[in-house]
Amino acid sequence: MLMENITSKEFEELKKDTKTVIIPIGSIEAHGPHLPLATDLYTIYEICKLIAKKIKVLVAPPLYYGLCRSTKPLPGTLSLKGEVLKALVFNLLSEFYRNGFKNFFILSGHAGGTHIAYLVDTAEAFIELHKDTKIFVADIFQLLKPVLEELNIPESDSHAGEWETSLVFYFKPELVKEGAFEDYPKFPKFRIVEDKEKYWSSGIWGNPLKASAEKGKILAEKLTEILIKEIKTLEEEGV
Ligand SMILES: [Zn+2]
Repeated sequence: MLMENITSKEFEELKKDTKTVIIPIGSIEAHGPHLPLATDLYTIYEICKLIAKKIKVLVAPPLYYGLCRSTKPLPGTLSLKGEVLKALVFNLLSEFYRNGFKNFFILSGHAGGTHIAYLVDTAEAFIELHKDTKIFVADIFQLLKPVLEELNIPESDSHAGEWETSLVFYFKPELVKEGAFEDYPKFPKFRIVEDKEKYWSSGIWGNPLKASAEKGKILAEKLTEILIKEIKTLEEEGV
């Protein structure tokens, strides 16, 4: 069930047989000339909607924003500070806990390492305080790894490339624009550089020219299956 569409009374009813809350988290960031700024939110939220059609789960209203490092100087990227992201997600977990929920899936459409590290740190802080809860934290790219392998999509394809463009082609074809090309960043190893656009100006990390709606459908369906399995495992396991 999508929480944004139900009433307070329906929420109260749903709690009787719904044990898990999914919190979808996206980002607002440059995704090349061809994909929308909210790509990371759209992909993960649409997957959550597919899950909610198949099993009893509460999908929280999504968080559009995340922490974006590499694309920060590119036009349209809006990045949260790590402390802000942590405080916000911690606050949301506390509110769901106060409403009686103890199983949480924090699913991110944005796969940035620092962003994910903050989400993991948030979950760590939360379970330390609430030992009766179970929390799953993952990003879409990590979760899709076995499917990417099956489809022969290389590991170097990670952002606005083949898999991500395929998902947007499948979920929101009207939002895919012209101008895609293959590109990869050239960041110097281990260096923290301020002028990131010098090393990565396109916002593309992979090959979007190989993307298709058919591949997007396979990716979406397989990821839905993977997550339903994870949700069932978490719900069946005792605290
Ligand atoms: Zn993305």
